Amino acid sequence: MLTVKAYAAPSATEPLVPTTIERRDVGANDVLIAIAYAGVCHSDIHTVREDWGPITFPQVVGHEIVGEVTAVGGDVTKFAVGDRVGVGCMVNSCRECENCAAGMEQYCLAGNTGTYASVDRDGTITQGGYSTHVVVDQDFVLRVPEAIPYEAAAPLLCAGITTYSPLAHWNAGPGKRVAVVGMGGLGHMAVKIASAMGAEVTVLSQTLSKKDDGLAFGATDYYATSDKETFKALRNTFDLVINTVSASLDFDRYVKLLRLDGVWVNVGAPADPVSMRVFSLFANRRSFAGSNIGGIAETQEMLDFCAEHGIAPETELISADEINDAYERVLRSDVRYRFVIDTATL
Ligand SMILES: [Zn+2]
Ligand SMILES: [Zn+2]
Repeated sequence: MLTVKAYAAPSATEPLVPTTIERRDVGANDVLIAIAYAGVCHSDIHTVREDWGPITFPQVVGHEIVGEVTAVGGDVTKFAVGDRVGVGCMVNSCRECENCAAGMEQYCLAGNTGTYASVDRDGTITQGGYSTHVVVDQDFVLRVPEAIPYEAAAPLLCAGITTYSPLAHWNAGPGKRVAVVGMGGLGHMAVKIASAMGAEVTVLSQTLSKKDDGLAFGATDYYATSDKETFKALRNTFDLVINTVSASLDFDRYVKLLRLDGVWVNVGAPADPVSMRVFSLFANRRSFAGSNIGGIAETQEMLDFCAEHGIAPETELISADEINDAYERVLRSDVRYRFVIDTATL
């Protein structure tokens, strides 16, 4: 076992504190990664505060991890010491079910193993990236291209793939009108990726306060959802809507923005059930869908796509002792657009 530094939540109601945790020995198929940067995802906060259900404490979160390989197991063929790598939202899956066999480990029928707060296949509770080191099976490690700035690469492992996967699946590209609801960590990546894919991108945000950023990231239009005229002006417009907002919306009103065969995809999730009149979907043969991160192969494809197109998240680098303040700022949407922890400060 390897004892490493980390920042952990002692309970659902206390601030995160510096601590040490144990990492497993590097097994035959494992890679030891010295973590350089860890992104701060809204899910981290939901998890440690038990918004999504009870967890085991102390808990280290963080599933946007980049770093350097410092040791490999005897059977590792995909990575070598010195490689620049990433780890996203999952670190294992059953590898046998039909979804795993199809390369969609995120939809593992036995449940994928989350990077934190999950029971690993060996029965231990996984601990995330707010830490100096992590040991991960080589099959769940990604290669981070040199063209992506190191500290900016981290948020691609969750915010990047969570938006790339539905955009790719529902064919965002030339001739397609895509709307992105919400301009936070996920939303700003959806704008950059969809426009790089060639789609015509519109941002729907509560106010116009981030309009200049949205247009700079590649959107051609930007509307305030606080303005009723927006819903009249944009009725029957979009082929695809990526909803990154985790607050509940008036879905009857929003899905009317979809044109014929348009698809509404949720990647943000309110904690409570939502309600909608099914009649709202009849017109224009609309679909209401969800999407969860991406498979390992697709995550590599996303990283390579971002390198090729010069896309990277907008980040604000923080030291580990700023994490609790950063959480408060994420909850106020006061971040442009993703906090990244410099783990050298742990
Ligand atoms: Zn996340
Ligand atoms: Zn599976």
